[in-house]
Amino acid sequence: MKILIVDDSKLARMGVIKSLKEIEPSAELFQAANGLEAVAIFKAENPRVVFLDLTMPVMDGYEALQQIIAIDADAQVIVISADIQNEAKQRVLKAGARNMYPKPINEEKMLQIFQQDLLI
Ligand SMILES: [Mg+2]
Repeated sequence: MKILIVDDSKLARMGVIKSLKEIEPSAELFQAANGLEAVAIFKAENPRVVFLDLTMPVMDGYEALQQIIAIDADAQVIVISADIQNEAKQRVLKAGARNMYPKPINEEKMLQIFQQDLLI
């Protein structure tokens, strides 16, 4: 299974990757540091799941989400953001994200995402 991890912080990407290790040990992982890279990789690789940060340079997560959903309305995007305001959550859910969680994601939370939010 292909999984795309998008965050401008390498440390944050590593945290998501670590949380996936036990749950999806055989996943093929792709990383992007901004929305523009994310959309390009999404087009090229059609990953099954996308973990998406919101605040990023070049192209933010809101714009990337919009473009990814425009490419594939069934794309499974989970937003992981430090912005925990309900307004941000409502906005990304409306734009087609499956769910949104505050940073950082641990293994327990990742398991919950796979069990409750994703169709795998
Ligand atoms: Mg960021």
